[in-house]
Amino acid sequence: MFKQRTLKKAISCTGLGLHTGRKVNLTISPAEPDHGITFIRKDVRPWIEIEARVENVVDTRLATTLGKRGIRISTVEHLLSSLYGLGIDNAIVEVDGPEIPILDGSAAPFVYLLQNAGIVEQERAKRFMVVRRKVEISHGESRIVVLPDHFFRISFTIDFDHSFLKTQSFSFINDARTFQREISKARTFGFLKEVELLRSMGLARGGSLENAIVIDDYRILNEEGLRYPDEFVRHKILDLLGDLSLLGAYLIGHVKAYRSGHHLNYKAVHALLNSRETDLVVPNLREADKTPEPKIRKAPLHI
Ligand SMILES: [Zn+2]
Repeated sequence: MFKQRTLKKAISCTGLGLHTGRKVNLTISPAEPDHGITFIRKDVRPWIEIEARVENVVDTRLATTLGKRGIRISTVEHLLSSLYGLGIDNAIVEVDGPEIPILDGSAAPFVYLLQNAGIVEQERAKRFMVVRRKVEISHGESRIVVLPDHFFRISFTIDFDHSFLKTQSFSFINDARTFQREISKARTFGFLKEVELLRSMGLARGGSLENAIVIDDYRILNEEGLRYPDEFVRHKILDLLGDLSLLGAYLIGHVKAYRSGHHLNYKAVHALLNSRETDLVVPNLREADKTPEPKIRKAPLHI
């Protein structure tokens, strides 16, 4: 659990981009220790490798978009969430379009693919970010507070001023199994009026009831209903996990989010990386092998 992880072999899939509506081919391959997660657009020359790091975030409206030298890859958060939730540190993601395919709007298809490829440990210690004291950031009515904790815990509250969708809260401690069971299947959602507006702007062309929960003023339009009674807030946690992966380290702390979205998530990652209240810790692997709870500046780690 202290070792870095990658995939056993490469895996591929094909799906539609949410906004372009175009078909995208995706391949995820194993990578060397300390490589991190990187993206490559195969349809542009020369190929540019874009690291999944906060400094490469170029847009946080509608989705999280990474970019470098004018080349962009959008809607990376569900795939990043799957990798982070399963504790995969190193992988190379290749796509032949500007978006990661939306698939069913959740992280479940990515989790299925990654687990089919197999996950292997590597002989190098993971990087952890340990929160020592409270870090807080807010924007308007949105707020993220990160507190010290022995685990990687996320608590989220959504609070919409909407006739059907109002307040939902959910809290969970991340480990691969809990992530898969409680979070990964939660689909993205949208309000019918917003979807119509996006369509009129030429966006959400690949969006449908196949890959999003859509709600009008009074009900859910998807005939099959919900996968969890509180699927909306669980999806917000899924998104937040994907954005937190941009830390480039596994977080040990309690993230409490209220009405947050990609923009504030991104700001929180910035704040954590620049805060004096957090430490980047790389455990000594030999010591970690000997004792299940190595002492790192006196803080016990439970991962
Ligand atoms: Zn999402």
